[in-house]
Amino acid sequence: MNIHEYQAKELFKEFGIPVPNGVLVESVEEARKVVSESPLFRGESRPAVWAVKAQIHAGGRGKAGGVKLARKSEEIPDLVSQILGKTLVTHQTGPEGKKVLKVWIEEGSNIAREFYLGVVVDRTTRRMTLIASTEGGMEIEEVAEKHPEKIFHLALDPLEGYSPYIGRRVSQFLGLPFSTQTQMVNIVRDLLDFFQRRDASMVEINPLVLTREDRLIALDAKVGFDDNAVGRQPVVRGLRDLSEENPLEIEASKYNLNYVKLDGNIACMVNGAGLAMATMDVIALAGGSPANFLDVGGGASKETVEQAFRIILGDPHVKGIFVNIFGGIVRCERIAGGIIAAAQDVKITIPLVVRLQGTNAKEGREMLRSSGLAIQVAEELYEGAEKIVLAVKGDK
Ligand code: GDP
Ligand code: MN
Repeated sequence: MNIHEYQAKELFKEFGIPVPNGVLVESVEEARKVVSESPLFRGESRPAVWAVKAQIHAGGRGKAGGVKLARKSEEIPDLVSQILGKTLVTHQTGPEGKKVLKVWIEEGSNIAREFYLGVVVDRTTRRMTLIASTEGGMEIEEVAEKHPEKIFHLALDPLEGYSPYIGRRVSQFLGLPFSTQTQMVNIVRDLLDFFQRRDASMVEINPLVLTREDRLIALDAKVGFDDNAVGRQPVVRGLRDLSEENPLEIEASKYNLNYVKLDGNIACMVNGAGLAMATMDVIALAGGSPANFLDVGGGASKETVEQAFRIILGDPHVKGIFVNIFGGIVRCERIAGGIIAAAQDVKITIPLVVRLQGTNAKEGREMLRSSGLAIQVAEELYEGAEKIVLAVKGDK
């Protein structure tokens, strides 16, 4: 689960990680109001510059025009109106982009240097890994490719926990002035503390800046949480923004279906995550392109299959459906019955290929063949994939 920058900054603040002060607005009207009323924009101690930032669940906003600076507070409402309601297309949104519904206005910083600081779970070492780089503001993947020597990474021993020397090593690697070392030691400590206590799976501060006043501050904040832990994190759960999620994925989660929308046109429905991955691969191998990942779980009852069909067909790009079920615990003739009943209710008008394998597969396939429905039956995985790819091509 992902959250917005402003939400991540609120969480950071709670854990003692320094962030700029700011306010969230959802309309130009609201922006005008806060600019005329809030102490962040009035009085002696107001900042010299403000940053106006689009809140979407994607990075790369700066380059797409989603981050603007104001030198006078009067300019802010106008900048908000330029960003709000706009669809931002960044390298992380996909070509359709993301519509901006919220804007964060914060005090600007006097930037001397920009760094990268992040934490991820490294599956190879099975540890939290701290990542830092002198190349802040750039894509870390790009830095890793072109200048791997500019990236510091350290897998953390969970039994050892945090020790200040870790923060000092980061500080030295980044070439920070000695006077700011304690700030870095504390930021790394608090970031790791946040990561563990809130069950994060990824935290990125890009950039973490050193200001001309020698202060370290998190200018950007990107956080992802482990979906399996959200159940025990009420605070995190409350930060979910459904408007940022794919409506079909939200619908699928209501029925405990594991659905991820993709860009292709062949929908697949499979029981078991591993088999679903393999099915997508084989569709690609046969020359097609999967429209989704969908694991319907072990049971594949009529109700489950019916909901799955409805969700799959909610994607207008879908031109054919490939059902691949392995009857291990459930018998294939029961699955076939479920598929027939569901297909009759949902009224599928595009090609449908069903591959059944496992217990009583023969009987199951026979039921599908004699159902009177336009279902193509397959025995082998590749055979099924070829059939659906061919049917979709012929359908054009
Ligand atoms: P992203 O493009 O989605 O990663 O958004 P960021 O929050 O990282 O902002 C993009 C860039 O805008 C940063 O790398 C900074 O260079 C710049 N920026 C953001 N806030 C400020 C600020 O307060 N002052 C100045 N001078 N630049 C800023
Ligand atoms: Mn950034």
